Amino acid sequence: MPTLKNYGSYARTVMMASVPFMIAMTGCTDTVTVINGSGQPVGVMVDGQNAGSQLNDRTFTSGASPINVGDMSTSPQSNEVTGFTNDRPPTYLSTPWTTGSDAFNLDFRPAIGIPVTVWIVKGPFAEQRQHAIEACIRTSVIWRTERMGVIFSPFTVIDATGDPEAPAHYAFPNGDVGDVVWKPLRDDIGFVPGQLNIYWVDTVNGGTGSGWSNFGAQVVMGKNTGDELLSHEIGHAFSLTHVDSDTNFNVDNIMHSASNTRQYATEGQLFRSHLNPTSILNVLYNARPGELTRTCGYSNTATFPCPAIQKRVWADGGFPPN
Ligand SMILES: [Zn+2]
Repeated sequence: MPTLKNYGSYARTVMMASVPFMIAMTGCTDTVTVINGSGQPVGVMVDGQNAGSQLNDRTFTSGASPINVGDMSTSPQSNEVTGFTNDRPPTYLSTPWTTGSDAFNLDFRPAIGIPVTVWIVKGPFAEQRQHAIEACIRTSVIWRTERMGVIFSPFTVIDATGDPEAPAHYAFPNGDVGDVVWKPLRDDIGFVPGQLNIYWVDTVNGGTGSGWSNFGAQVVMGKNTGDELLSHEIGHAFSLTHVDSDTNFNVDNIMHSASNTRQYATEGQLFRSHLNPTSILNVLYNARPGELTRTCGYSNTATFPCPAIQKRVWADGGFPPN
């Protein structure tokens, strides 16, 4: 009897100690469960309140799900998560955090497929078609590696070299002049409405290695452009601007204006590419119906509730996560 009594007393003591401990553990753990990921690691930028501080874009990366994002509660400023992973578009999630244990689902959708038409204006056609295909491949690799979540579907190449009006468009001028220089390409060479049209000419603003975007449905490329330049021009169509004068970037970013080593995009750039209402993903392709848009500027200072343009969840070469 005394033995049993002591044992029972011991058991009650353990239970009394362990119950509050378990409550404390669950209260600490707010999680984001990854749905329809690609099997690659997921990165999240988290807004909310933690330990009395209002957090903006606190970053977590994980190869497993659910992702523990700490003990979040409602911030008067912002309560949201944006998720990134390979072959999926950046995904925005509203997260009304509570003081309890919150669990939200980050439900990725498949990569956004955009049909694109390339018009080869200056030949030889077979050579320039191959050039366009290599630019397509390079851009696709950059988008996959950098988690843009966009794929070409399909990438159509049209032979316009025999068009009698083609020679008049071999030399494309400065594209910032206005639609007066873009409309003749549509009228004379061709144009597929509702998608990006890329015209491969001879020179752009005097250079065979130059390209131009009208921040809309048209891109023009010179005869000898580097394969990575297409990622830059489509970056403009996704609403992005040059990063040359920003010390948070170098020539390896897709939005540097003078480079042949473009390969990186920051999560701040991915966010804008998808959420800015002026991006062709929204205005031309209507590829995100019902999803949040948000007009974000390009300052590298805090532009709450937008992430800074140089916000990185993963390193870009020598630039670490920030
Ligand atoms: Zn540019």
